[in-house]
Amino acid sequence: MCFRPAVVNMPIECPNCHKKIPVVGGVKQKKCPHCGTDLTSVTAAAPSAPSAPGAPAAPSAPSAPGAPRAPHDAPSAPHAPSGTTDKKD
Ligand SMILES: [Zn+2]
Repeated sequence: MCFRPAVVNMPIECPNCHKKIPVVGGVKQKKCPHCGTDLTSVTAAAPSAPSAPGAPAAPSAPSAPGAPRAPHDAPSAPHAPSGTTDKKD
């Protein structure tokens, strides 16, 4: 086999519980098996060093297609119809 991956399987670190999650076959866990933190935006356990100031921040690329994205906004409670006052004696 001539093909050799340049990088070995580096474990990723959970940003929440700081547990090392092994990357098997280049496939990382989508969620932390320990605390359930979303790991889709977590890369290898390397310190994020802003070496390129001025570089545009890359938007969160959907590296894991099919992964359900949790909605940011919680469903708001339904409004009470205007005019209806709380008059309950
Ligand atoms: Zn965790």
